[in-house]
Amino acid sequence: MPLAGETKIYKTFMVSTSLTIIAVLSGIFFITTVRTRQLIDEENVLRARTLLNSIILARKWNANYDGVYVEKKKGDKPNPYLDKAEIKTIDGKVFIRKNPAQMTREISEYTEKEGLFKFHLTSLNLVNPANKPDDFETRALSLFEKGTKEASRTEEKNGITYFRYMAPLYIDKECLQCHSAQGYKTGEVRGGISITFDIENIRSKLKTNTIYAIIFGLLSISFLLGLIFLFTVRLIKKTSEIQRRFEHLAITDGLTGIFNRRHIMTRFNEEFKRTRRLKKDMGCIMIDIDRFKSINDEFGHLVGDEVLREVSARIKNSIRIYDVLGRYGGEEFLIVLPDTDFDNTKSLAERIRENVKADIFLAADMPLHIHITISSGIAHMTDGDSSIDDFIKRADEGLYKAKNSGRDRVGWI
Ligand code: GH3
Ligand code: MG
Ligand code: MG
Repeated sequence: MPLAGETKIYKTFMVSTSLTIIAVLSGIFFITTVRTRQLIDEENVLRARTLLNSIILARKWNANYDGVYVEKKKGDKPNPYLDKAEIKTIDGKVFIRKNPAQMTREISEYTEKEGLFKFHLTSLNLVNPANKPDDFETRALSLFEKGTKEASRTEEKNGITYFRYMAPLYIDKECLQCHSAQGYKTGEVRGGISITFDIENIRSKLKTNTIYAIIFGLLSISFLLGLIFLFTVRLIKKTSEIQRRFEHLAITDGLTGIFNRRHIMTRFNEEFKRTRRLKKDMGCIMIDIDRFKSINDEFGHLVGDEVLREVSARIKNSIRIYDVLGRYGGEEFLIVLPDTDFDNTKSLAERIRENVKADIFLAADMPLHIHITISSGIAHMTDGDSSIDDFIKRADEGLYKAKNSGRDRVGWI
């Protein structure tokens, strides 16, 4: 388990990395979507400008001839706002005059019928009330009067999205041939032409693309967050494992694998306080291998080490699960026995002495047969013990007594 401080670091790491990924991907998504929309709008404006320029050129051509006459067909009506709107030739043919406005309207009818786009010629100062500007056009016209050169927007009508664009029409000398009566001067804005076309197709494609981008974005975010989560969990596991290993090393004796002196003393102090608080019994056993120096001298240090390992294993196998065993010194061991009275301490010490005493056969590569004995000093905790030092001192004195009485025995005072 990681410590509280570490958990906070991992949490902060996970949250900040996740938030950064979400922010970066959302930012990329947002910028791409907005930019795509802008590009499409720019493309729509270009398309509208090109179409308007072609109609404006056609209007100029018409105005240059002061309107053109076409042969009247059945149903054709002369324009009531024009002079000489209808003429008859000497051979009896009837022609009607088409001015730029009329021409624009008729072309618009064609393009609309073909489902392409729609032109509308309008002005704030109308000659023909049929050319009344709608809401978008009225706003655009007032902007043109203030100097704006073009206006555009998208509009929804009956569930279909349209792109609308409008540019001003300036008075030139051809226009004045018909419109001088309205008091216009060359260069003035006399109205504007708007163009409207359906952009539903590109809009729905954009919508589909946006949905795909959102799905892909969410999948990527989930995948990355999953990776971060897995990575963090593995990191936590790895560091916890290393931490556990370090903790184990810090409390373990390298040669025998039992607790080292520092840890057995810590545990002894804890048990001492607990026993005092709960007014319970506690015993301790101090063990020393007899004539160990001679084993080293006779067989060498490596064999001595092997004997130390074997003795500690035998002691460990002789004690109870809640007894605490540690290496106190070179060939000395200390056992702390919680909830144990004097008699039980004594019988446990005897049992250990018997278990260790059996002959020791070392590993195959060390075919030696060594006879080992141990001496122990035991002590039982009393009310007079002010610390574990008093307690250990008594066990030590017991051990001294055992050594002096001939070794291979348990001593106490
Ligand atoms: P006694 O019965 O009086 O206890 O005799 P002893 O020889 O056991 O006593 P002494 O204290 O003179 O000798 C202890 C020896 O233990 C001395 C030291 O070299 C040896 N020793 C201490 N630590 C280790 C160790 O880690 N490995 C080995 N091989 N020997 C050790
Ligand atoms: Mg010793
Ligand atoms: Mg010894």
